[in-house]
Amino acid sequence: MIKKRFCLFLSIFIIFFILFSYTLHTEEISSSQTIPITTKPSISMLDTISTPTIIISAANKTTTNTLTTNTYIPTTNIKINNSRVSKTPITIPQTPTPGAKGKVKEVKGLVELLKLDNTFVIDIKYATKDNFTKKVIYPSAKCIINKNTASKLIKANNEFKKLGYTIKIFDAYRPHSAQKILWDAALDKSFVADPKKGSNHNRGAAVDLTLVDKSGKELPMPSNYDEFTKRARLDYKDCSKEQINNRELLGRIMVKCGFKRIRSEWWHFDDSNAKKFPVLDIPFDKF
Ligand SMILES: [Zn+2]
Repeated sequence: MIKKRFCLFLSIFIIFFILFSYTLHTEEISSSQTIPITTKPSISMLDTISTPTIIISAANKTTTNTLTTNTYIPTTNIKINNSRVSKTPITIPQTPTPGAKGKVKEVKGLVELLKLDNTFVIDIKYATKDNFTKKVIYPSAKCIINKNTASKLIKANNEFKKLGYTIKIFDAYRPHSAQKILWDAALDKSFVADPKKGSNHNRGAAVDLTLVDKSGKELPMPSNYDEFTKRARLDYKDCSKEQINNRELLGRIMVKCGFKRIRSEWWHFDDSNAKKFPVLDIPFDKF
């Protein structure tokens, strides 16, 4: 009888032991599963990652750490705010390549800048949706500019290159018909020239720009381009010393090379002779 009871007790003990071991094992798996989930890059983390290459390697790291199923699987549809993620490092030519100064088509004094000198970085925002209207305004991303203004700009770019920087252009010649579209879209009219008067951009004699370093990364400035706030003003001081220094370096060399600044936008420069040139409405496909 005692032996029978002992066998029953032993059987119950073995059953409990097996169940207990299984529970422990399950918890081990669960904890290993939580690692990739906790390291899953959130959208805000991705915003701070500097290059898409790093994003890919971060995603791969998650995959290799994942030893069990039902964990985070990187997908390609993660939305990244490209305007805040630096582009992959690019090679910026420091001297114009032979042939860059070949035959340049000229229409009413307007030329394509890169045909004169290809050592600029061109990022025409109104040829993309990455502008305040959120619409494509220009059918072409070519940087068209008055040839006299272009020679001043080349001089300024050569000065910046000595310091290790390059001019990045956001806007130059703007057909008058596009000026009307921007005027209608702008909520704050103080940042856009009235099409009745015309903008110096319509003359090809104004340019919106910033500076990039040798890897193509924009230097920190007090505001984003086309940010229609007080941070865009030249007298704005509530920002870092580095941002102020960069804004002033940009202004100093541009003025030295024959441009004028305007108080409301650090990125905008008028050719000091802009009014000598006519307001034009030549479409981009003429170049
Ligand atoms: Zn401008």
